[in-house]
Formats: sequence, structure tokens, C-alpha cells
Amino acid sequence: MLIDGCGRRVNYLRVSVTERCNFRCQYCMPEKPFSWVPQENLLSFEELFLFVKVAIDEGVNKIRLTGGEPLIRENLDKFVAMIHDYKPDIDLALTTNGFLLLETAHKLKIAGLKRLNISLDSLKPDIAAKIAGRDVLSKILDGIDKALDEGFIVKLNMVPLKDINEDEILDVLEYARAKNIKIRFIEYMENTHANNTIIGMHGKEILTKIKERYTIHALGREGASPSFNYRIGENGYEFGLIDPHKHDFCENCNRIRLTAEGHLIPCLYFDEAMSIAKAVKEKDLGKASNILAQVLKNKPKENRWSFEEELSREQSKRAFYQTGG
Ligand code: SAM
Ligand code: SF4
Repeated sequence: MLIDGCGRRVNYLRVSVTERCNFRCQYCMPEKPFSWVPQENLLSFEELFLFVKVAIDEGVNKIRLTGGEPLIRENLDKFVAMIHDYKPDIDLALTTNGFLLLETAHKLKIAGLKRLNISLDSLKPDIAAKIAGRDVLSKILDGIDKALDEGFIVKLNMVPLKDINEDEILDVLEYARAKNIKIRFIEYMENTHANNTIIGMHGKEILTKIKERYTIHALGREGASPSFNYRIGENGYEFGLIDPHKHDFCENCNRIRLTAEGHLIPCLYFDEAMSIAKAVKEKDLGKASNILAQVLKNKPKENRWSFEEELSREQSKRAFYQTGG
């Protein structure tokens, strides 16, 4: 079992398979970065898998593949199959912008992927394009339908932004509800890579919009999930709110993150990381395990996102497209 320096059980590894992306989301990567990680510094699937095995053997039972956009990395289904074949009962999920799902969903299902989180920020083509930097909506919607047809457990993610998509919170909720999929609204997490003119909506403001139509009941956090769940009115449809600015958000954090170049990151907010690249290239699994232990020991108690100005000391310098969110 993996326990961090604050006594929290860590059983969830998020693996970013590429920092590259086919979108340019305003809150994540509004412009192509000055330089990408050179291709030769990326770990191969075999190298990433060596670390994944160490993590599974030591207690990780939930793995999420992410990016950048994970579906632009070639042969991703092979990596999925490696993990699935090693531990078929692992909770194996992927977060995607959905654009390439029509082409890839079937192969991923066959390979053993179980769950998909798909980002959907707008149901208006022009607003979706404004947020993502290109015309994306119809491909995302086709991707969602394809994922459902393939039998994936699907969740949607929306990041509500002031004056951009805030008037669509209820529409996106209704869309998800009609398809019987859960939606999670994510508070925009301020970071130095985002477009500095955007303003995120507070969780409270998101809930206020939903309360304009529905009575809602707070259900609480589901174990170590980052999502605080709510139920609306009569039919019991449940949605989630991911509210990292709240003080208790990090209390049960069970996650660590691995980037495509092998940086093991204990917290989404901070820059600190240790590299497992050399260890896996030398196939030194003992060394990889020691680095994992070190990273867990130093996992910060909490992030520094806060809506109270005196507490939000500085912005996170971590790029979401590197950690995978
Ligand atoms: N490209 C995939 C996608 O967009 O779903 C996976 C990577 S993306 C970094 C993972 C999640 O992080 C997405 O749901 C995205 O909306 C969210 N995200 C990115 N930047 C964010 C930010 N600054 N604040 C809150 N959520 C963010
Ligand atoms: Fe790409 Fe996802 Fe970041 Fe948007 S949020 S730029 S889709 S990695």
C-alpha cells in the first residue's frame, strides 16, 4: 500500500502520454508552447509500462491516461492492452477532448479501456471554437455518441468561464442528463500558461446557475474523488463539482502524476517533480520504486488555489497540458 507523507493512501496514477494537443484551449494551452519536449525525450510505452507495473505492484489500482490529447499518440491501444493484460481488473480510464474518438474508440474498447471522461465546454459551435481555438463541436458530439455506442462508462467535464460559456451550464447539464451521463463542472484553475484574460466561475456561482431551475441536494465527496456530488430534483440525476479552491479539496487526495518524459509529480499545483526516466531506461525497478517512495514522502498537503485573495499567493506555473489535469 502506498501512503504519502501526510498519511493519505495513494492508489491512483495519472499518466500523460503526450503534452501535445490538437486543441488550443484558452484555459490550458492557448498557443503552441515555445518548445515541445523533444521527441527523443519521450518515454516509449514499454518504458512507461515498466513504471506502471511498479506502481500497480505497490498498490495503485486506478490508472487514467491523459495528456495533452492522449488520442494523438499513435498506437495508444497497445499501451492500454499492456496495462489491461497485466492487471485486467484495474480501473483503467482515459480523459480526452473527444475529437478523435470516432476513429479510436472501438480499438480502445477492445484493448481493455473501461471509462472515458470527455471534455465538453459548449454546445454552440462558435463558442466551442472560441474556447478550443478551432472548429471542434460536431466531432466532439460524434465522439461522445461513439463512446456510448461502444459501451464505455462516460463522464463529461465542463470548465465554466465568465462571459464565455457561463450561460450554457444548464444546457450542458441537460444534454448530459438526456444521455444519462454524469457531468462534472470544473472550476478554472489559474495557471501561467492560460490566456490571462479568462476568468473562471466559482463553484458557488455554478451552483447558483443550476438552482435557477432546480432544487439541488448536496451528497458529498465520493471517497477520494475530487468531485463533490449533488442531486437535482425529482429524478435524482447526479452531477459533480470539482472545486480545488475549497479548503478541504486536498484532504483525501489519492493521486500522483507521471508525464510523458518521465517526471513523477506529486501535486498538480506545484512544479516539484522527480524523474523516473533513467531508472526505467536502465530497467532498474528498485530505483523507480525508491523514487516513487520519495515523491510520496514529499507530496504537498494542499494546493494553493484559493478565492481568498490573501491566500492565493501566486499562480500555478504547472502546465495542465503536461500533467494532464
Ligand atoms: N486533452 C484532454 C482533455 O481536454 O480532456 C485531456 C487533458 S486536459 C489537461 C484534462 C482536463 O483538464 C480537461 O477536462 C480540461 O478541461 C481540464 N483543464 C485543463 N486546463 C484546466 C484549467 N486551467 N482549469 C481547470 N481545468 C482544466
Ligand atoms: Fe488540449 Fe485538453 Fe489542454 Fe484543451 S484542455 S488544450 S484539449 S490538453
